[in-house]
Amino acid sequence: MTTADMPALAATVDLGAIGHNVRVVTERAGAPVIAVVKADGYGHGAAPVARAALAAGAAELGVAHLTEALALRSAGIDAHITSWLHTPSTDFAAGIAADIDLAVSSPRQLAAVVAAARAAGVTATVTAKVDTGLNRSGIAADEWEHTAHQLAQAQAEGAVRLRAMMCHLAFGDEPDHPMNSQQAAHLDSAAADLKRRGVIPQVLHLANSPAALTRPDLARDLVRPGLALYGCSPIPSRGDFGLIPAMTLSAEVALVKKVAAGQGVSYNHRWVAPNDTMVAVLPAGYADGVPRLLSERFEVSINGRRFPGVGRICMDQLVVNLGPDGGGVREGDRAVLFGANTPGEPAVPKAVDWADSVDTIDYEIISGIHGRAQRRYVGDPGGEVR
Ligand SMILES: *Cc1c(COP(=O)(O)O)cnc(C)c1O
Repeated sequence: MTTADMPALAATVDLGAIGHNVRVVTERAGAPVIAVVKADGYGHGAAPVARAALAAGAAELGVAHLTEALALRSAGIDAHITSWLHTPSTDFAAGIAADIDLAVSSPRQLAAVVAAARAAGVTATVTAKVDTGLNRSGIAADEWEHTAHQLAQAQAEGAVRLRAMMCHLAFGDEPDHPMNSQQAAHLDSAAADLKRRGVIPQVLHLANSPAALTRPDLARDLVRPGLALYGCSPIPSRGDFGLIPAMTLSAEVALVKKVAAGQGVSYNHRWVAPNDTMVAVLPAGYADGVPRLLSERFEVSINGRRFPGVGRICMDQLVVNLGPDGGGVREGDRAVLFGANTPGEPAVPKAVDWADSVDTIDYEIISGIHGRAQRRYVGDPGGEVR
């Protein structure tokens, strides 16, 4: 990788990979994609990812907070956007004014949307988010009757239009778990119940990344992937599904120096050089999203070779062991911390390697890259830029 025009610490996002991944998921699911771009596009930048996903054929966008949906509108994105995590203080009037599909999880939320729609004299677009067993967000079983009744009244009055019904899987990453089909059946029966009351949803969706890739039978009208669009495998034991990691985190080698045998490196000398060696200092630390727990449990790739991290990961920097001969690494070379393979850097570490090392999931790794890591965008999603 060349260093020209690259920030010291770079999160390079390949929009071509995003486009490719949209097409992979769409094909496997046999259904159009709602691109989930919550949490600033899982750390990749919500608006650029949204535009790339739409250009590559994604049908719609999904986010958690309404503020995330409004930010996409402010960025000039006019695609259909659903937002599904609200609190009593959520500004539904702003959501209605921005034509956001508001997924409601309780009769209280529905009542607040109805009140905002009445006040504005318009019809709000809503999704019924049904709790089919995750017991997190969604309309609870004991509140279904009340909510369904209220929805039918509000729709008859013209305050809302039910556009979709959705639920979220508890065991999406265990494709054969019986809960998956049970949750789908529960959603179907909730939809049938609403139809009996004269409220007919246009679309149903429940499949997250793992279900979209492995359970096309659960797709209904749309699938709702996040992780897979960013090129991480939602079920690593089943391979990569042909997905391409969109983010490559790389750092410029700040210093190369000698460390004599017996010398300790970084705070508390957690690592002591067993022999005379060369080390490289990289400008990336836990304030940028490199977990401190990853200390001594990761490798970086420099010029196509792997080098192990040594000593404590600090707030701003970390150290890797280049070996006695320095591995040919020079100050200004580029170290790949994780990302996509390129011709010059075969088999670079993956976000999931970090996740495995610190007992978490790659969702947390990629969405946690921040601080001094500067995002830059490369590649073309393919398709028509909207
Ligand atoms: C985050 C989220 C998704 C996307 O999940 P992935 O596992 O990243 O595909 C889909 N639906 C809802 C409701 C979510 O909160």
